[in-house]
Amino acid sequence: MLRQYELVERVLAYDPDADEAMLNRAYVYTVQKHGSQKRASGDPYFSHPVEVAGLMTELKLDQETIVTALLHDTVEDTLATVEEVERLFGANVARLVDGVTKLSKIEAMSEKERAAENLRKFLLAMSEDIRVLLVKLADRLHNMRTLHFIKSEDKRRRISRETMDIYAPLAERVGMYEYMREMQLLAFEQLEPEGYATITGRLAQIRSSEGGQVDAIALSIKQALAEAGLKVEVSGREKHPYSIWKKMAERHVSFEQITDIMAFRVLTETVEDSYKALGVLHTTWQMIPGRFKDYISTPKSNGYRSLHTSLIFENSMRMEVQVRTREMHETNEFGLAAHWAYKQQDKPDGQVGWLRDLIEIVDASHDAEELLEHTRMAIYQDRIFAFTPKGQLLQLPKGSTPVDFAYAVHSDLGSFAVGAKINGRHMPLRTQLGNGDVVEIIKSRNASPQLSWLGFVVTGKARAAIRRAVRAKERAEIAVIGRKLFDEIAARLPSKIGKKAIREAAKRLGLGGEEDLMAAIGAAKIDDHQVLEALVPGSTKGLPEPEKWSGPERAISIRGLTPGVAFHLAECCHPVPGDRIVGIRVPDKGVEVHAIDCLSLASGVDADWLDLSWGDRTTGAIGRLRVLLHNRPGTLAEAAGIFAGNRANIVSLEMTGRDELFGTYEVDLEVSDLAHLTRIVSALRASDAVAEAERI
Ligand code: MN
Repeated sequence: MLRQYELVERVLAYDPDADEAMLNRAYVYTVQKHGSQKRASGDPYFSHPVEVAGLMTELKLDQETIVTALLHDTVEDTLATVEEVERLFGANVARLVDGVTKLSKIEAMSEKERAAENLRKFLLAMSEDIRVLLVKLADRLHNMRTLHFIKSEDKRRRISRETMDIYAPLAERVGMYEYMREMQLLAFEQLEPEGYATITGRLAQIRSSEGGQVDAIALSIKQALAEAGLKVEVSGREKHPYSIWKKMAERHVSFEQITDIMAFRVLTETVEDSYKALGVLHTTWQMIPGRFKDYISTPKSNGYRSLHTSLIFENSMRMEVQVRTREMHETNEFGLAAHWAYKQQDKPDGQVGWLRDLIEIVDASHDAEELLEHTRMAIYQDRIFAFTPKGQLLQLPKGSTPVDFAYAVHSDLGSFAVGAKINGRHMPLRTQLGNGDVVEIIKSRNASPQLSWLGFVVTGKARAAIRRAVRAKERAEIAVIGRKLFDEIAARLPSKIGKKAIREAAKRLGLGGEEDLMAAIGAAKIDDHQVLEALVPGSTKGLPEPEKWSGPERAISIRGLTPGVAFHLAECCHPVPGDRIVGIRVPDKGVEVHAIDCLSLASGVDADWLDLSWGDRTTGAIGRLRVLLHNRPGTLAEAAGIFAGNRANIVSLEMTGRDELFGTYEVDLEVSDLAHLTRIVSALRASDAVAEAERI
């Protein structure tokens, strides 16, 4: 383990202005806070943050990052708080430590509940400062290096799987190939112990039997380039066991069939020399077509730059050769970290966001594919990532609310949601969620989706589900009413009506089944006669056809008119039998019958009022009502149920206004007389769904 003075010296070696006292304080703080905690290796726990800080010094990172590395587990695993860290080490370090702590939440989740792709995005979105991500990657690398101390094989495999799926790709994403390779190798050893043993064994064999081959080829490359006047550094290595394994798996071949086991790297002084060297290599040895890549003129999105080619040595051996400048090499191996460290030298106070760095790189390239990569990054800016209490991670559009969240988890959870706890606090369902929020949905079996939710949800899934649920609820309400009416109709029949008879009746009426039949009755789409006729064909023979009694003017007789004179009921006041009525003569239209308190009469019609009254057997007229319904799902269905339950057909229904609280409807009802209409108004007023009901 690095000693305190060694760590401080390392930092001072590349940053003479570093705050030595603060580094010392941070070292002592982590030793004190972790106290007697132990690692699986038996080492004191604080050896871990110290080693992570050591890894960060290898990247020549600034003092704040080193301090963050030292403190990275204190908030998560000890009694230290972010506030205390801020007081002792400043706001920047506190923010960075907090960032690393948040990323650590993820490690607490169980494996099956997270998607690797989601997690990588989450880590990127959360790592607003590249330094947070760098500390996290170094943390993981050190944990992988000490993984063999963990006794449980399951745990070792789980951590390795996570490293392979999440952290190694992330390291690659920010160009830290050294970290990526080491993580992959350590994870590979745990996940595929046999494959690992075979490959490392075969590589050791090659090394001993063909001993100097790598060196010999490196030397001949160097000589060829020297003859062309190029001053270069050549190194050769065997390919990484994990990349050999991957090739074997991808190409379904054995170790023996893998030809390019060795790879060489040529480091030049200038970019020009790189291209010159490539020319020499291609004229000295045979190149393999299709394997040449120019990442200097077109860098990868993470900033990687190099020339790649494959050559054939001594007739059969295929070797990969990479040519690049020394400077590119450093940037390549430590990616954005190196890039960032260079920038820091220019701008000592620069808190350069890694994203901006990435955008700069992307701006400098013209490759469509890389721009696409960049666009994907931009997409993360429109997303938020939130957790379930069990640690499942969900990706949602920005502006999403607990209702969106609930529907994203499961449509049932959305349907029964009545409230939400965000990070443990009760919050309204319309609250917009933030990155990293833990959201707990409070359910009630009696709850149902509210129409008002449509005003704030942002996901299509929630929107569609709410609409569907509201419609279904209305249908269900109508079906309940329909079934009541049906039972009354069925009770008039001498024999019991079974399920089969109901199905057949529905079929005769052209309806899908029992549920549809009940819904049609409830919505007054079919009347008693039709239902009876469908249940027992011929049973309504001799009874008047429904139209005969339901027509508004058909059964109306008015006393007080000269026989033969045409009349009609006025549409301003819709008089119904039972109302006191008067008549007005209208040229060419006969007599218009008004209710006596009709407003249009009061406004002074210049005509004689005829004193009229309803005939004895008068029945059927249209009454007009204004109904104010509470603005929530199901109220209209309830009103419709009242009309149907009172045997009043709806002739027309119009929504004339709507606001947050109420929907206003004007409805024309076919009723038999005033008493009938009055009963309906009373029933409406008694209903919870109705705020007001009146004749107009
Ligand atoms: Mn750690």
